[in-house]
Amino acid sequence: MKGIFQYKSDHNDPKDGSRWFILQKVNTLATNRVMTENEYNKELQKQVDRAKKDSAKSREKRLNKAEKKPDKLIVNSTQYKRNPDVITEVLERADGVCEKCKKPAPFIRAYDLTPYLEVHHKKPLAEGGEDTVENAIALCPNCHREDHHAVKVTTITVGIIVEEDKVLIVQRKGNNSLPGKWCFPGGKARKGETLERGLRRELYEKFGISIRIDSYFGESIYRTNSGIIRLMSYLVKRTPEDFKINVHKGIDFVKIKDLHKYDFLSAENSIVEKLKEYRHSSLKNQEESL
Ligand SMILES: [Zn+2]
Ligand SMILES: [Zn+2]
Repeated sequence: MKGIFQYKSDHNDPKDGSRWFILQKVNTLATNRVMTENEYNKELQKQVDRAKKDSAKSREKRLNKAEKKPDKLIVNSTQYKRNPDVITEVLERADGVCEKCKKPAPFIRAYDLTPYLEVHHKKPLAEGGEDTVENAIALCPNCHREDHHAVKVTTITVGIIVEEDKVLIVQRKGNNSLPGKWCFPGGKARKGETLERGLRRELYEKFGISIRIDSYFGESIYRTNSGIIRLMSYLVKRTPEDFKINVHKGIDFVKIKDLHKYDFLSAENSIVEKLKEYRHSSLKNQEESL
């Protein structure tokens, strides 16, 4: 048996003189032993994963009786002793601008009123990288976290055009990957373009539709053979013009309740589900306001 155990009680049998003590397995994070930072983060992530799999109901139950003041534990972390001259030189070189996204540091450090950038090693020290100016780069917190934790994704923006009980969907052409599949109209933003702006351009170029973006609707993250797709959807309104189709096979306004009859790209299925819920709740709201 592996894990951490806590002393519970003694056992003492006067007949045969046997003595032992009883241990009880305890939740790792609840104990006060010293963990490494890595162990602690892994353990916490495991518990978050478990909580995610639970229903919202059981989470709510636990939250209601949860301790509001968290326990403490000692975390043991090993640090590299970094060269302050490297940090200073790299920050001077960056001059307040992130060396990856080229945007100015997002805020000023309270401690000394300097632009908040973090000096990161291109090849990590733990993998044999050197603590030198050449191997270091000044990053904004966003780029820094991205470098450590993110995977490469392709972001696609789609417009959800709902009119009465119908929504606009389009069908991919034969020379596309996954021909014949249905999806919501949209595309990839170009470099330097915001997602909203890219969406407006794509809908205009591909379907001749001018749109106004109402609100963000939701996202779907999906793993395909060619990588990870992040689909971001927006509720949009269009100006009443005719559609044209330039690169698609078909375009259609279909009833939201009939969406399941269409063969959608896998990445779009969760948006379809969300749209059905959305339709359901807006119908309910209408009824209530009548
Ligand atoms: Zn950046
Ligand atoms: Zn780093």
